[in-house]
Amino acid sequence: METTTRKRKLRSFQPLWASTRKIQVAAQHSIPANVDVLIVGAGIGGALMALSLVKRNLTILAVDRRQPVQGSTLASTAMIQHEIDVPLHRLTAMLGQAKATRAWQRSAKAVETLTSLADNLDIDCGLERKKSLYLAGDAYGARALRAEVAAREKVGISATFLNAKQLHERFGLQRTAAIESAISASANPAQLTAGLWHNAQENGVSIVSDTEISDIRSVDDWNIVATSRGEIIQARHVVFCTGYEFLGAVANQEHRIISTWALATKPHHPRPSWLKDYVLWEGSDPYLYFRSTADGRIIAGGEDEDDPTAFQDPIKLRSKSKNLRAKLSALLKMPIAEPAYQWAAAFGMTADGLPIIGSVPGLSNVYAVMGYGGNGITYSQIAAEIVSSAILGHQDPDSGLFAFR
Ligand SMILES: Cc1cc2nc3c(=O)[nH]c(=O)nc-3n(C[C@H](O)[C@H](O)[C@H](O)COP(=O)(O)OP(=O)(O)OC[C@H]3O[C@@H](n4cnc5c(N)ncnc54)[C@H](O)[C@@H]3O)c2cc1C
Repeated sequence: METTTRKRKLRSFQPLWASTRKIQVAAQHSIPANVDVLIVGAGIGGALMALSLVKRNLTILAVDRRQPVQGSTLASTAMIQHEIDVPLHRLTAMLGQAKATRAWQRSAKAVETLTSLADNLDIDCGLERKKSLYLAGDAYGARALRAEVAAREKVGISATFLNAKQLHERFGLQRTAAIESAISASANPAQLTAGLWHNAQENGVSIVSDTEISDIRSVDDWNIVATSRGEIIQARHVVFCTGYEFLGAVANQEHRIISTWALATKPHHPRPSWLKDYVLWEGSDPYLYFRSTADGRIIAGGEDEDDPTAFQDPIKLRSKSKNLRAKLSALLKMPIAEPAYQWAAAFGMTADGLPIIGSVPGLSNVYAVMGYGGNGITYSQIAAEIVSSAILGHQDPDSGLFAFR
């Protein structure tokens, strides 16, 4: 059994957030020999996990092979959405009504919990609550969007169908239909994550960076964990929040790594006035998604490709960026200037669009969370809720929904 995570390149070129302030998290050097909870990974997933366990009289250590916040989280475009990549009516066809509904409802609740958490902790991360506009595209047209609104309304997830005329009158956009809904948000993901870690540290969580977890064995109720520095940590519980560097023992065909691209314009870029209140994405394959920032940048992403290493190619970066600009420009009917930042990254996908959150078979009290696609931030919150419940001795009612499959 492969008991560690294979290192991979997670992102290429310069994400916007890398040059923003307040994204550093000071790490310590010494590793405690015994902890109640060892969290592997110091991205948004690890940060939310740590915070869900503070104030419970547990010793918590987070270890990362990189510096904190330097994994995929730094590349995220951070549209914090309850809308799962697989529409509810389609997920219902795949999993049945009960499971699909629970996944969508859980996702909506997670966005609300996460935005309230960032507010309550007063994290300075440009968090803005937004509505979302899901545009008809080549994969989901007007008829599918109408079916989607009906499916959401049936289970109490509010959504409004806009026909082509309404969409054009209100937004000036030319598509056959769209779905407007509330509950979304956006933020600087690096500042959000660093802010969560700062708070976790204030509550006693220790962070060690540039140290890899290289092996793990369960002995009775304990886990004996080896680090790349040759140290041994004895941990009651271990949680792998390792993003797209997932644990070999639980990797499967369902979980694929692909490539994705993103760009950000300069601040104060010309844009429609409504854009500040919305995040947008489309029912196309590959899809375009975009949003703006408080200082008036437009951030756009998409152009996904199945090749898991294509994101490292500088020539592709230029062509993908050109495509994103062209699509954005055609949709908004305005020129999009040469981006200030262009970057690319590895990206995870599961067939049903749901994350994989659960106990690792063959080990005791070891959990892994993975399979995060376009909802990775929302899913990190769900994972923190489910795994912290298990560690604290309660079973989350939705744990079966996201378990290894
Ligand atoms: C371009 C892009 C756009 C995205 N857009 C969105 C979006 O709009 N909305 C959204 O919700 N999500 C989005 N996502 C997804 C989301 O950003 C990710 O799912 C999320 O940031 C992953 O966080 P993480 O903490 O799980 O992983 P990471 O940030 O990668 O952190 C995991 C950490 O684990 C560490 N690690 C791995 N193995 C080991 C080991 N053996 N020992 C020690 N440390 C280890 C790594 O060094 C890494 O720092 C996007 C992702 C990308 C790449």
